Amino acid sequence: MSIQQQISLKPYNTFGLDVKAKYFVEVTDEHQLIEVLKSDIAVNNELFILGGGSNLLLTKDVDALVIKMSIKAVQVLEDFEEEVLLAGGAGEEWHEFVMKSLELNCFGLENLSLIPGCVGASPMQNIGAYGVEIKDRFEYLEALNLKTLKIEKFDNAACEFGYRESVFKRKLKGQYIITKVVFRLSKSPKLNTSYGAIEVELKNQGISNPTPKDVSNAVIAIRQSKLPDPKEIGNSGSFFKNPVVTLSVLNKIKSNYPDVVAYEVDKQNFKLAAGWLIENAGWKGKTIGTYGVHKKQALVLVNYGGALGKDIYKLSADIIASVEEKYGVKLEREVNIY
Ligand SMILES: Cc1cc2nc3c(=O)[nH]c(=O)nc-3n(C[C@H](O)[C@H](O)[C@H](O)COP(=O)(O)OP(=O)(O)OC[C@H]3O[C@@H](n4cnc5c(N)ncnc54)[C@H](O)[C@@H]3O)c2cc1C
Repeated sequence: MSIQQQISLKPYNTFGLDVKAKYFVEVTDEHQLIEVLKSDIAVNNELFILGGGSNLLLTKDVDALVIKMSIKAVQVLEDFEEEVLLAGGAGEEWHEFVMKSLELNCFGLENLSLIPGCVGASPMQNIGAYGVEIKDRFEYLEALNLKTLKIEKFDNAACEFGYRESVFKRKLKGQYIITKVVFRLSKSPKLNTSYGAIEVELKNQGISNPTPKDVSNAVIAIRQSKLPDPKEIGNSGSFFKNPVVTLSVLNKIKSNYPDVVAYEVDKQNFKLAAGWLIENAGWKGKTIGTYGVHKKQALVLVNYGGALGKDIYKLSADIIASVEEKYGVKLEREVNIY
């Protein structure tokens, strides 16, 4: 383990943005992490914790010590009659972790297959897809307190999970490094196939009695058909959150745009499909030189190669302004901006 200087972060972010880290170190266990944190460089510089770099827009060089979390380990912590507590080290790749859980016959994460990134970042924004969020399967996490250098446990309530939110993105931002995440998974399949696209995909594949592995495969197929692969086109998945509005705001938008796509959160609140708002404002497929809005999915901003993070940021600001002007709704970025 050595701290390097002036390292390009291009291979470490899925947008493929070529910015430099002032300092860079990769840690593979908690002792190394604590050693690094006690070093002069860590004490005298800002810290920047990096997982898979799949939820980041780097708009400038990172004037900090970048700590790449590569703590690996998948472990069954408790084996109950019906359930299992399965732990993943922060540096485990999320999709590999989901695949491993299925191999171990631990079920519940199958709808979250193929989400890029690492286990340690999964609670940061309570990752979710196809009707499941990690908060639904989460038991606790361990995180290193940057002041005391002691490990603390956070249960579900302490994480204050919300839609693409957690306490680590808000109140405790920059105060903890997540080292391990523990999930409560089921030994018997309890499938969630209510999400329309999964049902359709299973039907297309001629599967009427799906296993968790079938659901995982269906999710993988849907994602591959809809989302650009960051290995081919730089991107960070959904760039914006779906905004939640009241019934009266929804009705006002509907009076001008009857086709607006909205999902009920509760009787008074509705989640608008940000992708629809952006597409209907004319942004889908728009290309500005080396970057733009993806051709198939208006929620995804892309780097076709050589773009600058600050240009993609400007594009996101233009989209926010245009959506607000058209519908009176302000979009919020899901991606972390540096
Ligand atoms: C093609 C594509 C599809 C996607 N689809 C989805 C989806 O369906 N659902 C979804 O929710 N997300 C999705 N995402 C977003 C992304 O994959 C997730 O947010 C993922 O959890 C980010 O993990 P990461 O390891 O890459 O985090 P990074 O991008 O490395 O980091 C994200 C943030 O977390 C912090 N962080 C990372 N690790 C730690 C740690 N161990 N301790 C403390 N802080 C940490 C970083 O400092 C940063 O602020 C998608 C992204 C892409 C590129």
